[in-house]
Amino acid sequence: MTAKLEIKNLSHRYRKGEEFAVSDLSLDVEPREFVALLGPSGCGKTTALKVISGLLAPTSGDVLVDGESILGVPPERRRAAMVFQKSLLFPNMSVEENVGFGLRMRKAGREESGRKVADALRQVRMDGFAYRRPGELSGGQQQRVALARALVTEPRLLLLDEPLSALDANLREEMRALVKRLQREGGYTTVFVTHDQEEAVVLADRIALLFGGELQMYDEPEAFYDRPASREAARFFGATNFIEGEAKNGSVDTPLGKLRLERSASPGETTLTIRPEAVRLDESGGENSFPATVSSATYLGTQVHYELEASGVVLRAALPPHVRLKKGDEITARLPAESLWALE
Ligand code: ATP
Repeated sequence: MTAKLEIKNLSHRYRKGEEFAVSDLSLDVEPREFVALLGPSGCGKTTALKVISGLLAPTSGDVLVDGESILGVPPERRRAAMVFQKSLLFPNMSVEENVGFGLRMRKAGREESGRKVADALRQVRMDGFAYRRPGELSGGQQQRVALARALVTEPRLLLLDEPLSALDANLREEMRALVKRLQREGGYTTVFVTHDQEEAVVLADRIALLFGGELQMYDEPEAFYDRPASREAARFFGATNFIEGEAKNGSVDTPLGKLRLERSASPGETTLTIRPEAVRLDESGGENSFPATVSSATYLGTQVHYELEASGVVLRAALPPHVRLKKGDEITARLPAESLWALE
């Protein structure tokens, strides 16, 4: 049942003369893989998902499942189940009828349909609510029913468009765990649209980061922290330190001095990045350390955010709250070689 999804050079614009909402997007999603389409509002995530589901015909490019184009296949025959931010359940049908709707359309037998609906409701822990109407359920319960309705049709592709974003923080966390469990158990090849970086990291095997309709980076979550592909990708994941320099002979000359990197940089001009939480204080003055002045401190409870100034460079550091520095303090900062990354 598992399927490989390939998106090839997909572009879409809604009207001639307008900018492309999605531009030359290519992605491979392996069978059983969970991919998050991540990016700021308006970057084209929903457009891409609608093309995969068949709600939208692309301007150019192709979508393949197991090596065959599905662009000519009508949405209801793509075996792609979609769940949206708002559940879109039929208000006049019971939970049970809502979940069984897709099966009835496919003329499944009454007994088979009853069994599958009961199974799906049990999976999302809504088996006690079969006779309720959607209006008698909380937002989280409605999304569980929407998930059950998607899963009951045994889709090859599960397409989720910000299904958790209308829920409050606690419920969202619980639902993330549920979505992840159901996806793992069912082995559905999944594309999940979100603008929430944390959600993408928690859920996805790989993240596709889109800006302005273009793919910026497609990799495992860790890579977005360890080895971002661009300044924009680094910034989207909270890396705010950029240090200009010139790489030669295995280290980089910067205004902060010669910095050594564990992972080599190709020779020439480069920009180094390091996450605020990787910056260290080091009075012993080891490798990659330099004098700096604290120019601001913001207490955030579990961390303190500092701005450090050194040789005209402003660095952001996030340190544990037991380190108490104040504005004007002279310190020695260190940028650990293993945490520095040279952007291409
Ligand atoms: P969000 O996170 O806000 O939902 P998104 O990343 O899903 O955003 P899309 O909804 O795919 O973004 O929109 C991408 C671009 O296409 C935007 O500039 C948007 O204004 C435009 N767009 C979306 N739908 C239409 C439409 N039906 N007609 C014309 N333009 C559209």
